[in-house]
Amino acid sequence: MKVINSIKDMRAWSKAQRRQDKIIGFVPTMGFLHEGHLSLIRKAKEHSDLTVISIFVNPAQFAPGEDLDQYPRDFERDEKLCAQEDVNVIFYPSNDNMYLDKHKTYVITEELSKKLCGKSRSTHFRGVTTIVAKLFNIVNPHIAVFGQKDAQQAVIIQRMVTDLNFDIQIIISPIIREADGLAMSSRNKYLNENERKQAAVLYRSLQSAKTEFEKDNRSLLEIKDKITAVIKNEPASRIDYVEIVDAQTLGSPDPGEGDMLIALAVFFGKTRLIDNIIVPGKGEEWSTGVLE
Ligand code: AMP
Repeated sequence: MKVINSIKDMRAWSKAQRRQDKIIGFVPTMGFLHEGHLSLIRKAKEHSDLTVISIFVNPAQFAPGEDLDQYPRDFERDEKLCAQEDVNVIFYPSNDNMYLDKHKTYVITEELSKKLCGKSRSTHFRGVTTIVAKLFNIVNPHIAVFGQKDAQQAVIIQRMVTDLNFDIQIIISPIIREADGLAMSSRNKYLNENERKQAAVLYRSLQSAKTEFEKDNRSLLEIKDKITAVIKNEPASRIDYVEIVDAQTLGSPDPGEGDMLIALAVFFGKTRLIDNIIVPGKGEEWSTGVLE
């Protein structure tokens, strides 16, 4: 396994592999790896000859006052995990390498980036699309794997790849959870014991919504209220949003059409966690009520 720090060396490696007709799979991450990340690496390996993972805590996707400085980092541990997974290259650039002082160019996916998490994190997805576009240009992979954990990010990246004609196949991989249902996240490290215990409510609340759908409850408003009520039972929780949207457009779900995404963001103490499930479309009329 190679660790590559420079953009020039990364490009040269990919070029050499492409010349030998190798299929390059890519997994962009911010490091502090957990089983969720490792599942993406395994998925990439299924679809490629060689796997590149990037580890870069991207300042452009953090707003002032967010957790850029506290974001957990442990490169040595990440390196061992990648070696165990037979990763071929870790691309581990410095901040100065990735963003020159005179950096002025950003990629913005209109509309989609303003919904859900974009309402409280207005510049977040601009940072995500910009770094992913840069990484795609540097690593030049054939396929790239992203997690369903960041459902809105997955939709936006697919939009960007289509809109900007990146010749890269995007694969979205399922959410990996802890035993009590909490979605794995590098940010779970911030939770104290009490918050960690209470955070399991997120998955329970999504499961309760799924049960309502299965019971043929058709009022999205009622289902949303139910999720909110389940979460509010946990005193450390503070809801940022709970929304039920069309899984593709992230807008109001079309009655009876397409899959629906139930997405939420909830604070436990100072830590903001996100989670989601997809509910398949039913081909029937749904009462949408007034959703945010
Ligand atoms: P991050 O390092 O948090 O930026 O995440 C890097 C990639 O891992 C993103 O595509 C995430 O969606 C994905 N990811 C993070 N947590 C999980 C999880 N629990 N299950 C599956 N994928 C995940």
